[in-house]
Amino acid sequence: MAQFDVVVLGLGAMGSATAYHLARRGRRVLGLEQFTPAHDRGASHGHSRIIREAYFEDPRYVPLLQRAYELWDALQQQAGSRLLVLTGGLMIGPDGGELVQGTLASARQHHLPYELLSSADLKHRFPQFATDESTVAVWERRAGALFPEDCIRAHLTQAARAGAILHFEEPVQRWRVLGDGVEVTTSRGTYTAGHLIITAGPWAGQMLQQRGVPLEVERNVMYWFRPRQDGLFTPDRFPIYIYEYTQGRFFYGFPALRGEGVKIAHHHSGDLCTPETIKREVSEDEIQRIRALLARHIPDANGELLHTATCMYTNTPDYHFIIDRHPDHSAVTIACGFSGHGFKFSSVVGEILAELAEYDHTRHDIDLFSLARFASPV
Ligand SMILES: Cc1cc2nc3c(=O)[nH]c(=O)nc-3n(C[C@H](O)[C@H](O)[C@H](O)COP(=O)(O)OP(=O)(O)OC[C@H]3O[C@@H](n4cnc5c(N)ncnc54)[C@H](O)[C@@H]3O)c2cc1C
Repeated sequence: MAQFDVVVLGLGAMGSATAYHLARRGRRVLGLEQFTPAHDRGASHGHSRIIREAYFEDPRYVPLLQRAYELWDALQQQAGSRLLVLTGGLMIGPDGGELVQGTLASARQHHLPYELLSSADLKHRFPQFATDESTVAVWERRAGALFPEDCIRAHLTQAARAGAILHFEEPVQRWRVLGDGVEVTTSRGTYTAGHLIITAGPWAGQMLQQRGVPLEVERNVMYWFRPRQDGLFTPDRFPIYIYEYTQGRFFYGFPALRGEGVKIAHHHSGDLCTPETIKREVSEDEIQRIRALLARHIPDANGELLHTATCMYTNTPDYHFIIDRHPDHSAVTIACGFSGHGFKFSSVVGEILAELAEYDHTRHDIDLFSLARFASPV
């Protein structure tokens, strides 16, 4: 008999949630992580992640988000600590742009409460933004920020409490199918399991590239600035936002959370890398480019630069996730390619992966994430 029901490879956002759901279902689960808990070398660090419901990327994400919110609430209660703060959210851009139109489509299809703000409304309610006449915004009350390192630690702690065995600083070197299950070899030993779930984030690529799915890893920089005026950027006065500043180009940001400065970042830098080659230094030129955006759109946030951090997106060609069985091995499930917008879903992705390992199907609609979509050119 295999030593474990399931091995989870990678204990970042998705793997920690998966180990949690499996352990709470009474599965014998082993989680393997190459670094320390909630480390800063993958895709899930940087103190904050946006969560929002009126999802501009596709209305099919909305039911998953609604379940994700429920699961975050439940985890907060079990952990006894605050994992998210609701600030409301603004999706700002040209009236006919992808961001505003996509947000409205999701809100209308799923009957979500929202307000469409004109440029004048926006200036009146949120004077921190300097916008022109052609800019509008969709206001969503239920949006806010998750604290990603705390979320991962909470999932790991509760998983261990429910019986999961979690090994850190133990990189997986290889795995192979063995009989009905899998054998996983690490720097410290070899383990057998009925099922393997691969949640390796930016390290997932090689496996799928061999199958013709061009996953790309993209470097993205986060910046924290001290506002020039105190008090204007507290979470009760300034919400999370995404701003379409040129057609199809976005930056996003947060209020000053937990006594930090305001955080701002480009969504998709276009700067490709690998986990081994990512440049961690941030150049003066990059800082000037983000300052130019602040000066133009949120001038009072453009104070002293406090801190920067680099992080990796793992992009699929259509920026939708991959959650599916391994194409060659039914005992292996893959979840990757979260394309810079996965964190908010990690609570529900854990539930989906636990169900797939246990029953071979999930109650959630995950057709959008199927590997089969790459069978024909995208
Ligand atoms: C700058 C930035 C901003 C973002 N903003 C948002 C946002 O506002 N909202 C949102 O919803 N999403 C956001 N995202 C996206 C989101 O953070 C990611 O989609 C999500 O964190 C991906 O989680 P993951 O579990 O796939 O990867 P990770 O959390 O990186 O986990 C993968 C884990 O696998 C481990 N691993 C890999 N290979 C091995 C091995 N061989 N052996 C053992 N362990 C291994 C790694 O060490 C790592 O811990 C952002 C991402 C970045 C980079």
